[in-house]
Amino acid sequence: MTHQVHIVGGGLAGSEAAWQLAEAGLNVRLSEMRGAGETTPAHQTDGLAELVCSNSFRSDDAVSNAVGLLHAEMRALGSLIMAAADAHKVPAGSALAVDRDSFSAAVTARLAAHPRVEIVRERIDALPASGLTIVATGPLTAARLAGAIGAATGADSLAFFDAIAPIVHRDSIDMDICWMASRWDKGDTKDYINCPMTKEQYLAFHQGLLDGEKGEFRDWEKDTPYFEGCMPIEVMAERGVDTLRFGPMKPVGLDDPRTGRWPWAVVQLRQDNALGTLWNMVGFQTKLKHAEQVRLFRTIPGLEKAEFARLGGLHRNTFINSPQLLDGTLRLRKAPHIRFAGQITGCEGYVESAAIGLLAGRFAAAESEGNVLLPPPPTTALGALLGHITGGADAASYQPMNVNFGLFPPLHAGRTKKADRKKLYTDRARLDLEAWLA
Ligand SMILES: Cc1cc2nc3c(=O)[nH]c(=O)nc-3n(C[C@H](O)[C@H](O)[C@H](O)COP(=O)(O)OP(=O)(O)OC[C@H]3O[C@@H](n4cnc5c(N)ncnc54)[C@H](O)[C@@H]3O)c2cc1C
Repeated sequence: MTHQVHIVGGGLAGSEAAWQLAEAGLNVRLSEMRGAGETTPAHQTDGLAELVCSNSFRSDDAVSNAVGLLHAEMRALGSLIMAAADAHKVPAGSALAVDRDSFSAAVTARLAAHPRVEIVRERIDALPASGLTIVATGPLTAARLAGAIGAATGADSLAFFDAIAPIVHRDSIDMDICWMASRWDKGDTKDYINCPMTKEQYLAFHQGLLDGEKGEFRDWEKDTPYFEGCMPIEVMAERGVDTLRFGPMKPVGLDDPRTGRWPWAVVQLRQDNALGTLWNMVGFQTKLKHAEQVRLFRTIPGLEKAEFARLGGLHRNTFINSPQLLDGTLRLRKAPHIRFAGQITGCEGYVESAAIGLLAGRFAAAESEGNVLLPPPPTTALGALLGHITGGADAASYQPMNVNFGLFPPLHAGRTKKADRKKLYTDRARLDLEAWLA
């Protein structure tokens, strides 16, 4: 099959871009190196759109949460990633979480079955000299291609760390100590396993984090800043004795049924697969050595006999200086036949990566047919995120960014309550997206 657009990378962004292009009637070559004897430090399968860490797409609340709004906008644009997520979700309160294996299998199967998509298992080492191309190789782009991108852009790629939280086998958790609940009893179901800690237990755990043996950083990982949203627990612990208690270990809204009170601190676990056999430790990304993780995490009440399906870790994240390098439709200014999509553009997160893939696919489809697709309005979640990446952010201090209402143009609504303001943002976004689609 001769292709009209070449997509490099079959992750969240590349898969979504391929789907959008194919549905628009274009032939796509989707090159993915996994399955050709290659992998990244974080992927574990050959499946497309593999989730490398958490199984959560975060809040699904489209009225008062920016990522929930992004979900809704992507659904309105026929997103494959959202359709697969909706079809393979697992209970997670007001969040959208998925069974990672069946989710990835569904994305792979739908693309493989599409007559306009050719999935080729190959590693690409150079940027194509011509032909519409979308580079969606993610934060762990293979080294040679990363070198080629650096050479083509003339700008230094930045690096920082993302982090993996441990996963625990459900049947090794002591439910005589832990209990099921969602914070403030939100939603109809009790979706989290909660491990309660007394003040003494928390202080001992905090000290254990400070004292615990950490993994060495490799040379190329040294002196790079952490992304605040993915900070290792031991780094949080170093910031102060109560930092964790106001972060991932916060106990507010969680009544321990044995005492009727909030514990001093809580470790939460969230379901990680449809069977409910695996649970991840929420917010517990760490650079502690594996043996140290096992020893320390087994001091958490209820996890004394925990068996770990996966331990925590930290990884490099490569991204380009998009505000400087890309135009408003994600094209490399110096070589406009090439677009970038996904986390490599400096957006952060599964949903954001897929959203930027969706837009790159639609822009390329329009361009291939001699049309110009205007970017979505900046008042929408898609437009706000795109606008930030392609110029809204300060190039000099550019760092990865999740979608949030701070990226949206202000409302000029005078003094309004926070909840009302969020609703005004999302109401405006809905109307403006409808107008853009019309
Ligand atoms: C360790 C880690 C943990 C993360 N945890 C989370 C999390 O919990 N929640 C969250 O929302 N986000 C997380 N992220 C951030 C981000 O959302 C994910 O990395 C997401 O998968 C990015 O989507 P993507 O499509 O841009 O890249 P990816 O999903 O990584 O897809 C890129 C694809 O390109 C392929 N590839 C790379 N180089 C080549 C090449 N030269 N030729 C051919 N193929 C190539 C790779 O094999 C991969 O399949 C994490 C990132 C990392 C690195």
